Amino acid sequence: MRHFFAVLVCVFLFSRVTPAAPGAVRCGKLLDVRSGQMLPDQTVVFDAAGAITSVGPSASAKLPAGATAIDLSNATCLPGLIDVHTHLTGDPTGNGYASLGISIPREAVTGAKNARLTLRAGFTTVRNVGASGYTDVAVRDGIDAGEIEGPRMRVSGPPLGITGGHCDNNLLPSEFHYKEEGVADGPWAARAKVREVVKYGADLIKICASGGVLSKGDLPGTPQYTFEEMQAIVEEAHKLGRKVAAHAHGTQSIKDAIRAGIDSVEHSSLIDDEGIALAKQHGTYLVFDIYNDDYILQEGAKAGMLPESIEKEKKIGRQQRENFRHAFQSGAKIAFGTDAGVYPHGDNAKQFAKMVEWGMKPLDAIQAATINAADLIGWPDKIGALENGHYADLIAVSGDPLSDVRVLESVKFVMKGGAVVRNDLAAK
Ligand SMILES: [Zn+2]
Repeated sequence: MRHFFAVLVCVFLFSRVTPAAPGAVRCGKLLDVRSGQMLPDQTVVFDAAGAITSVGPSASAKLPAGATAIDLSNATCLPGLIDVHTHLTGDPTGNGYASLGISIPREAVTGAKNARLTLRAGFTTVRNVGASGYTDVAVRDGIDAGEIEGPRMRVSGPPLGITGGHCDNNLLPSEFHYKEEGVADGPWAARAKVREVVKYGADLIKICASGGVLSKGDLPGTPQYTFEEMQAIVEEAHKLGRKVAAHAHGTQSIKDAIRAGIDSVEHSSLIDDEGIALAKQHGTYLVFDIYNDDYILQEGAKAGMLPESIEKEKKIGRQQRENFRHAFQSGAKIAFGTDAGVYPHGDNAKQFAKMVEWGMKPLDAIQAATINAADLIGWPDKIGALENGHYADLIAVSGDPLSDVRVLESVKFVMKGGAVVRNDLAAK
């Protein structure tokens, strides 16, 4: 009987999140993100489950019976974009002491709002690295159930960190006895915390290896989790089939995290040559959130960020950009992550121009947000490219993103799993 209901529920969910019928999209141009080739007049065909069944010249495309292709012949198609570092359940207005007045249920509502904005900006998948009260799990599940609009989500739940560290909350004095739910000190407590967040729905583990910018009373460059603690976390997470993302600005923490076997370094601000060499040797992805510096310096004070946070950003922002360029030119693997939530959601694509300004070609930046991000997330055969068997997650822009990457800031068409989310190109 229980099994019968499970089947019923599955059929119901399946029918809500996938398109009712197979279909096709005709693209004036299509960017093959692996080769960098811009292919003329291509048609992408997908099945009723929202998976791509063929990609090729429109002249030889076989459309499903009764289907007409959506006409994007004046536009350039790309795979849906991926941001590997978001905080959908937070907004820039919730900084410093203002953050204490925001309840966990309210954060979940904020997450639903931002999921929609992010998807409509062309980001069909995000990795959400840190949220209170498992609000990210709730948003992910609401999206998967077809109840709210949003990208595919991989979520971490509460981030793990040391007492008084970047992933704790140091705003209140001791009589409030407050600590964040992800705080765990010592290898065995940290292992137990990995088990706990996995129990409540985490797809990956987020940890704070070093201090941070937007936290009170710590320094971005100083280590927090020890090598021993990180080794325990990584061993436990990998055993349970979860990857680990480590927030690490500091030079030593970046190296300790990589040596402990983490899968991605977030921020990477003060990485040195040895850290870059270690990342290459271990195949570790580096994520540099190099757009939001401008936002923090221009808008941070108005957004309630602590004065010490603005000072920390002033010291670290430019170094992070220089180290991004150096790491990229040295051949380290880079995935596109923005820390959306520090700046307004939906502006994620503004980071592409920064990446180009600091040494990448537009194709490199696009690959960071497609094939590289898909690989880091663990779905290289499902997202990040328009290929057979991948989800029909497709966006379209006017103009050529290889000559002007800023066209990605105004995406005109978004499809997720074969379902059209927005189409500003349709004949009016
Ligand atoms: Zn973050």
